Amino acid sequence: MLAGIWDEFLTIAREEAGSRIVETWFKAVSLSKWDAIQKIIYLKAPNPFVKDWIRNNYTNLMQLHLGRLLNIDSLKVVFIDGLEVAREPVTVTYQSQPASGTFLAATTVPAVQKRSSTALKVQGSKNASHINSSYVFSNFIVGPSNSLAYAAAHAVTENPGRLYNPLFIYGGSGLGKTHLLHAIGNEIKVSNKNAAVLYQTADRFVNEFISAIRFDKMYKFQAKYKDIDVLLIDDVQFISNKEQTQEAFFHIFNALYDAKKQIVFSSDTFPQNIQGLAERLRSRLACGLVTDMYMPSLETKVAILKKKAEQSDGTVSDEIAHFIASRVISNIRELEGALVRVMAFASLTKQPVTLELANRVLNKSLPEDYKKPMLDFNGIVKRLNAYYPYSLADLQAKGRNKELAFVRQIAMFFMKKLTDKSLRDIGIYLGGRDHSTVMHAIDKVEKLVASDEAFAQKLQRIEQDIIK
Ligand code: ADP
Ligand code: MG
Repeated sequence: MLAGIWDEFLTIAREEAGSRIVETWFKAVSLSKWDAIQKIIYLKAPNPFVKDWIRNNYTNLMQLHLGRLLNIDSLKVVFIDGLEVAREPVTVTYQSQPASGTFLAATTVPAVQKRSSTALKVQGSKNASHINSSYVFSNFIVGPSNSLAYAAAHAVTENPGRLYNPLFIYGGSGLGKTHLLHAIGNEIKVSNKNAAVLYQTADRFVNEFISAIRFDKMYKFQAKYKDIDVLLIDDVQFISNKEQTQEAFFHIFNALYDAKKQIVFSSDTFPQNIQGLAERLRSRLACGLVTDMYMPSLETKVAILKKKAEQSDGTVSDEIAHFIASRVISNIRELEGALVRVMAFASLTKQPVTLELANRVLNKSLPEDYKKPMLDFNGIVKRLNAYYPYSLADLQAKGRNKELAFVRQIAMFFMKKLTDKSLRDIGIYLGGRDHSTVMHAIDKVEKLVASDEAFAQKLQRIEQDIIK
């Protein structure tokens, strides 16, 4: 469970400090032990250089987030000096791009340390293609919020480069985009183990490009990408405002596309909304299939929690799973984090997982916005009213005025997207309408979002207004 906490911390650190910092510094460190009574967390660094750097630059970050994850207010972070413990020199072999898990393996450490490092190893394994073997289709839970993206991703593996090319998956943070990208890579590797598959974050692509220029390795850089069969680019929004990189990427894209090689992108927003992107690249990104993911329903969240618990050899009761799922609304990474915290706290303090315990752990450790009450229907209607001249009574009435009917459909769409309520609940609330009417409405609005950019942008503005 400590390993889970450390992984969870790395994810947060990646968001807060950037993935380069995590790959360069934090991946070199391991979490050694936790003294729950003294509130001290012991970390092990491979050498004094890494230790000092992290201590000088990231102490606050660690205290804040590890403290939150462990549910402790004033956490102390102490480095166990690897050198002192080992009384032997430690040789560190840095790789140009340490992939998760492999860094520790590349560190020559005495046997005593090695044991704990292996125990804390990040789940799954990666190789030159950067594919994480623990993200596969079989452990991805499908629900209405992600079924389209899932189906498209799966279809791509059956017919790479032919059906949906490129495939562009967008959605908020922590909704499963990276998981799907790796799943595509893993699946293609199963059916064709010789396929040259490369998963690359746009961030890393940018760095690779910059260092290729700096060290005169453009030829090598281009050659590497020319030979790829399946290119998976994660978080493509990070190439915005990087003109030279975009230029290089544009050519790589065209070459692969013309050769009918599969390309898949993920992004936190749809192509039209990525700022600072050259127009011709933007139109390339969107020229295949564009599909979105949003926050899953309560049922799907519960299923995900159960799957995650099962994967880490634990179980979680329906009651606890419901409790956690109903507390965490913003994304699945947080959902997983909440589960890890509850389980870790129970196991470290040797208590059973009860509702009371879960409540204690989560209430204290969730950041402010998760304590917000669930958005309710009234709130949504009120905000919508700033954009469309219809009151709740209008929306609930039987009126068949075309514009009113349309606004009602938009209300249904947001109610489904932003709350955990069922189609049935929404139908009842909006004048006793049938669940199939609500489903049809949502479908209609979604289709319009996909085909009408101006409308999509308007809805996005409204949504931001609703959730702020
Ligand atoms: P994103 O790339 O969209 O920010 P990730 O793919 O990193 O999100 O997902 C965050 C975490 O949530 C991962 O651990 C992932 O396995 C998990 N996750 C997301 N969606 C699902 C799902 N439908 N089923 C199982 N796990 C999921
Ligand atoms: Mg991601």
